[in-house]
Amino acid sequence: MWTNWSGGQQCRPIATVRPLDDSGVSAVVRRAAERGQTVRPIGAGHSFSALAVTDGVHVDLSAFRGVTGIGGRPGRPTVRVRAGTTVGELHEELASRDLALEAPLELAAPTVGGALAVGMHGSGTAHGSLSAAVAGLRLVDGRGRLRDVTVADLDGARTSLGALGIVVEAELAVVPAGRVRVTRAPRPVEEVLDPAFWAEHPVAEAAVFPSAGTALTRWAEPLPEHADTGDTDEDTEAEEPERSLGVTVAGATGRTALGGAVVVERALPRLVPRFNRAVSRLARRVSATGPMHRVLSSPPAVRYEQTEWALPRAALAEGARELFAALTDDHLEVGLPVRLRVGAPESGWLHPSHDRPTAWVAVRVPRGTDHAPVLERAYRVLRAHGGRPHWASRSDWTVEDTARAYPRLPDFRRVRDDYDPDRVFATPALAAVLGD
Ligand SMILES: Cc1cc2nc3c(=O)[nH]c(=O)nc-3n(C[C@H](O)[C@H](O)[C@H](O)COP(=O)(O)OP(=O)(O)OC[C@H]3O[C@@H](n4cnc5c(N)ncnc54)[C@H](O)[C@@H]3O)c2cc1C
Repeated sequence: MWTNWSGGQQCRPIATVRPLDDSGVSAVVRRAAERGQTVRPIGAGHSFSALAVTDGVHVDLSAFRGVTGIGGRPGRPTVRVRAGTTVGELHEELASRDLALEAPLELAAPTVGGALAVGMHGSGTAHGSLSAAVAGLRLVDGRGRLRDVTVADLDGARTSLGALGIVVEAELAVVPAGRVRVTRAPRPVEEVLDPAFWAEHPVAEAAVFPSAGTALTRWAEPLPEHADTGDTDEDTEAEEPERSLGVTVAGATGRTALGGAVVVERALPRLVPRFNRAVSRLARRVSATGPMHRVLSSPPAVRYEQTEWALPRAALAEGARELFAALTDDHLEVGLPVRLRVGAPESGWLHPSHDRPTAWVAVRVPRGTDHAPVLERAYRVLRAHGGRPHWASRSDWTVEDTARAYPRLPDFRRVRDDYDPDRVFATPALAAVLGD
């Protein structure tokens, strides 16, 4: 039995195979096609949605690890990386070469192939997702052929939900490594809904407990090379907001992190003052310096279910206010802070940030709590504000929604017919959002 990270998705594939090289991947696809079976590549299983769920053959890419080459043009370096490399391994391999992703990702566990398939993102007004860094892709298509994706098809393939083939290697744009200072501070919620906050802090995020009226923010600023930061050792241990909040709430209730979060749902009014005091206390240890991927890394404090939506950035204030009001009016306290992040417009035809600046709004519910009422409320509000859901998150999105919200869907379908004419990579979850 295969289970995703949150425990909310499970399946029994006919077989799980772990090819060791490109020709092994081709052989798996050909054999499955001959037998009339479907094939689904899997990464780290960190998607909350059912994208990796199959009753066909699971293809485990964990043997496809590491950076295989450096390329690009002077001043515009790229690296070639195998698709089963984890995001954390990629960050460290780049750092060892004095390189970095321009827009680092906060979670180390996902694989490059999985992160690209769903358009994994961090936060920055001018930062795209990992998909935006793609300069080239090599994949095995539905007929088992190893193909380099053409430039004309690249915007279809950079965020593909795994519908076009099994990516074995990606070429990614990178930048010279640098260091940043990350600062953390609490603010009134209204401040983080104001575009001025994001203009002042282009690489930032906010964690909001709707009922508490407080947002814990953090932002990163580049440091000049060899800058003497004056930070103490304690400063460099600054915790990231989500973890701080989860652990704080747990501490306030004297329970485990998960138990604490559940208690908040029932006892929030009593806890809000404590929570706010804890936020302020935590926020006094404000600063950390180092390579961006290290100081922004964000290991989760508890397991949870999540829905995250890409709103047009101009809709952030109204959408978030309505969401917070809906959650508090219905006494649907979420247990974990709602997370606000931003992203640049993307060229990827199926990226949720396609063609517009984005504000990401993520609602999380700890495992063990009934997530449905909270997530369903969030779907309704965020869809009404023009949101498109993150492909890795839970949602009630349909193929009709995709057709309405993604103007390049017809182009994607044309590319899909070319790469997977027999729908060897089909799954019910793909059919639900892309059609057959
Ligand atoms: C705690 C936590 C924190 C998270 N934080 C963030 C965040 O900060 N930002 C964000 O954007 N997302 C976040 N996510 C979601 C995360 O981005 C995705 O779940 C993850 O990127 C998917 O990678 P994976 O390796 O786990 O892929 P899986 O979940 O295993 O697979 C996802 C999809 O990719 C396909 N796929 C996998 N490998 C390949 C391949 N080689 N070729 C083609 N298709 C492939 C699968 O078939 C499936 O459709 C978070 C998830 C968790 C659990």
